[in-house]
Amino acid sequence: MSESLFYKSATELSSLLQSGALSSVELTRAFIERTQAVEPSVKAFLQQNVEEALAMASESDFRRSRGQSLGPLDGIPVAIKDVISVKGASLSCGSRMLSHFVSPYDAHAAELLKAAGAVLWGRLNMDEFAMGSSTENSAFQTTSNPWNTDCIPGGSSGGSAAAVAAGESPLTLGTDTGGSIRQPAALCGVVGLKPTYGLVSRYGMVAYASSLEQIGPFGRTVADVAMLLQAIAGHDRRDSTSYKVDIPDYTAALQAPAKKWRLGIPKEYFAEGLDPEVRQAVRNAIEFYRAQGCEIVDVSLPHAELAIPVYYIIATAEASSNLARFDGVRYSYRSPNATDVVSLYSKSRGEGFGSEVKRRIILGTYVLSSGYYDAYYLRAQKVRTLIRDDFMKAYEQVDAILTPTSPTPAFKLGERKEDPLSMYLADIYTISANLAGIPGISIPCGFSSENLPLGLQILGKPYDEAGIMAVAHAFEQAHDFHKRYPSL
Ligand code: GLN
Repeated sequence: MSESLFYKSATELSSLLQSGALSSVELTRAFIERTQAVEPSVKAFLQQNVEEALAMASESDFRRSRGQSLGPLDGIPVAIKDVISVKGASLSCGSRMLSHFVSPYDAHAAELLKAAGAVLWGRLNMDEFAMGSSTENSAFQTTSNPWNTDCIPGGSSGGSAAAVAAGESPLTLGTDTGGSIRQPAALCGVVGLKPTYGLVSRYGMVAYASSLEQIGPFGRTVADVAMLLQAIAGHDRRDSTSYKVDIPDYTAALQAPAKKWRLGIPKEYFAEGLDPEVRQAVRNAIEFYRAQGCEIVDVSLPHAELAIPVYYIIATAEASSNLARFDGVRYSYRSPNATDVVSLYSKSRGEGFGSEVKRRIILGTYVLSSGYYDAYYLRAQKVRTLIRDDFMKAYEQVDAILTPTSPTPAFKLGERKEDPLSMYLADIYTISANLAGIPGISIPCGFSSENLPLGLQILGKPYDEAGIMAVAHAFEQAHDFHKRYPSL
């Protein structure tokens, strides 16, 4: 396949399928071959379901030949983070605990993608149970950044971001609990969107911190992400936090005439610790919007500095509870060294979980324990409300908020692995959106002097995915950062 094909946007590939210039089998085969060629240096995939994928592709071609195409995603390959269930496929969550687990059913998002005719063809690497910012916490392999294979791709959805950046899959799904879609998207130079909490059903997604996380799309362009979000958004009664809201036509919303948006710049996000090249790239983006006639407004999010401590109390508390189910008794790893029921639990969990997961279970158990619950967990919940209130107040003045996605470009593999605190700081600009439940998108906005991608984050009002994608699309139309490819 020529380079121009596997680096095309999903939107373009979709029109090639619709015009008959390309069949889904040809397209799927091309991505499988591309993946075979670059995967030894990228390592984004944990599993490739090649035969099933080709079968799905040929069904798609058959439908199309009978004039029964299911829409823009019909026949397009989509690979999925290994924490979202697809019946019959692996569901390892990047953990030894579930290394042999196979999903007995489809997640809501997977059902919807199948109904849209997408070709689900691979399982993507991730930090164990989505805990991490570099994908180095995977129990199986370390994914590299396609722009520089000595660097991390970001995390925890590092496989999802790297696969798109490397031209291995035009679209992927990831999950975002504290930045795990937006941060890797920024570091790999692709587009990634975290939906409003409640927009996409979490049914069939393995839970880490249930009150924070959402499934969301990755693609090369904002329009690609809009197309994938369209397919997976919507109410599902099997997720009690799924919200009944009218889903707009996201693709049509991108074409709406440019608006004079009011865009907020929170000063707290441009303070110490921000890499000068990232700062400059984001400043340039702000100037672009100003030049388009948008109103640039200084806003304040006064509790921003509490986001990381609050997140690491709430997320670990929820993780300690959610991960209690992996006990060696039912479906998870069972230690062969157990001699009685207590050692069955302790050895299975001790051998099955990696060190970051254990750290969080211990921390979460601590903040929930009697005597500390009020001091940590309850207070963190109160501050969480203050963080959300900060955003709601800012949105009285502005339509969307612009910030860097990540404080630095991709760092080197191994550089922060032994230093959890420096790893946690990678999410300093993304975590607040999860605490507040609001949507956020990251788009490419420049390159560092070392040719590493830089990301702009656009945060929106609850359920205003259409709004932030329109703001993002306006920038993308006027720049070519999304058209550059890593040389692999
Ligand atoms: N890096 C953050 C963490 O380790 C966020 C991860 C995520 O969004 N899943 O928890």
